Amino acid sequence: MRKENILIPKPRSNFLSVQCTNCQEKQVIYSHATSDINCKSCGNPIAKKTGGKATILGEIINTLD
Ligand SMILES: [Zn+2]
Repeated sequence: MRKENILIPKPRSNFLSVQCTNCQEKQVIYSHATSDINCKSCGNPIAKKTGGKATILGEIINTLD
C-alpha cells in the first residue's frame, strides 16, 4: 500500500457539482477555485474566490474526487 490518507474524510480539494439556485443549471467546479464562477446559463454567481476554499453560493449536489 503506497497510497496514503486513503480514508481521509475531508480531502484538501476536490470538485463539486453545484446547482445554480436561479436556473437549476448544474456545473462542476473546483472547490478551491481561484476566480469567481458564474452560472454558464444565466450568469448568477455560484462560487466566490476567497484565497482558500471557494465559497459556494449555489447548491452543492455532489462531491467528486
Ligand atoms: Zn443559472
